[in-house]
Amino acid sequence: MKKTQRRRRSFWIDITFSVTIIALTAAAIYLIFTTQKQEAAASPDKQKKKALAPTIIETIDSNYPGIKIITETSNDPFAPYAIQYPQSIHTAFNDEVLTYINDARDNYLVLMKENKKLGIETNGELNVSFETLAHHSGNYSFVLVTSMFTGGKAGTSEIRSFHLNPENGESITLSDLLGGNQIHLEKLALLIQEAIAQDAALENYVRPEAVKQYTKVDWPHFENFALTDDSLVFYFKEDSFAVRVAGPPIVALPIEKVDRLLTAKFKAVPEESEKEDGAEQPNAGSPMEQSENEGDNVDQQDVNDQEVADGKEGAPVKKVALTFDDGPDPKVTVQILEILDRYDAKATFFMLGSRVEYYPEIARQVAEAGHELGNHSWNHPDLTKMTAEKAKNEIQRTSQIIEKVTGKKSTAFRPPYGAVNTQVRNVAGLPVVLWDVDTLDWNYRDAKQLIGKVESSTKDGSIILMHDIHQSTADGLDAVLDYLQNEGYVFVTVSEME
Ligand code: ZN
Repeated sequence: MKKTQRRRRSFWIDITFSVTIIALTAAAIYLIFTTQKQEAAASPDKQKKKALAPTIIETIDSNYPGIKIITETSNDPFAPYAIQYPQSIHTAFNDEVLTYINDARDNYLVLMKENKKLGIETNGELNVSFETLAHHSGNYSFVLVTSMFTGGKAGTSEIRSFHLNPENGESITLSDLLGGNQIHLEKLALLIQEAIAQDAALENYVRPEAVKQYTKVDWPHFENFALTDDSLVFYFKEDSFAVRVAGPPIVALPIEKVDRLLTAKFKAVPEESEKEDGAEQPNAGSPMEQSENEGDNVDQQDVNDQEVADGKEGAPVKKVALTFDDGPDPKVTVQILEILDRYDAKATFFMLGSRVEYYPEIARQVAEAGHELGNHSWNHPDLTKMTAEKAKNEIQRTSQIIEKVTGKKSTAFRPPYGAVNTQVRNVAGLPVVLWDVDTLDWNYRDAKQLIGKVESSTKDGSIILMHDIHQSTADGLDAVLDYLQNEGYVFVTVSEME
């Protein structure tokens, strides 16, 4: 007995020793690291002087009156970014959004500079995109999603909401919605806790103790929200009450559940019986729509087959697939559809789910014109830097919105940046389609340059990459189609290419 106890004691001494040594080493590493970090942070001016690749800033009108979309991109190979945010005529709102955007960009660039100093070569990525949610009270909620990758195992993401009534420039708060009523806030907190407990998607990721902490009755806990006519949605910080891999938790409460807590102005519009029918209609209508369109496709296919058959006798038929990424876009995509129609050319549009949600009408036009619908993820992240689950969600969410909006399924997947690995292929659930001719239209932004790469690199079976978000691409497309047609190419979609 004694022997065992002594042995046990020395065992504990050993353990204590080892733990102390490990802790000291960790502390030393931490100190070295933070000192370097501070050094890097202390000299932002020096860093800014080093010229980065040029930043491109684009402004377009959104579908929402009074709101413009600003897109800022840097194609710097080491620290590229793509940032999109709303702009109004109201200074206070614009300043608030811009402060947030500038902080996000600066923070990213500083971290990337630090990496460079430390000799970390991994390319970073910053992506900010947003959606606009309208409410019958005239208020808009803008939901900005920021994803950042600066090396290491995984990226981080953050959701941040902004509010604006474009009529008067005012911004609603949760206190406005609840009329500052503390009891209503308590009831709301309970509803949120209930929703978290019942959310199957969060089930395996939630830390129950942290849920209590982050949903404690306190106004600031719930300031990150969006109000629509269907729901009141709350956004929480990543790694708050759910583990990091789950991303920033989103809790959506159906409007019926919260309506009694809202002040008159924000209460739901009186129930209309057509609402439910309306919601069902797109689905109910789609089979017929689809079969009609399929009919068209069959005709088109016959024509193509005919041409292919003819070709065997005469000159061999050469095929080329035109692909357009990153749309839909309310201006450019529409022009591209017109040009394609003139040449009776079918193409493939790899759309972003977030933009399909934003411009459903344009996505429908693409589908109705008989083009192939491709999935290009929801927000354009580098999927190889995400967990399988997040990557899958990016793709599935996009497939769902494409089908919901157009009544047709997306039939091919193109990973953002062409970044693909086995994991992405496994979760895609669709054929992964890349390209062999890159027009570099995003880089040149010059209509005359669009044809350059096409002329020099297109061959039978080529897949040409373009983007239906740049005016210059629409402007240069006619020349490209004219050239390819004269060269004897037949325009096919990517699925027809095989
Ligand atoms: Zn893209």
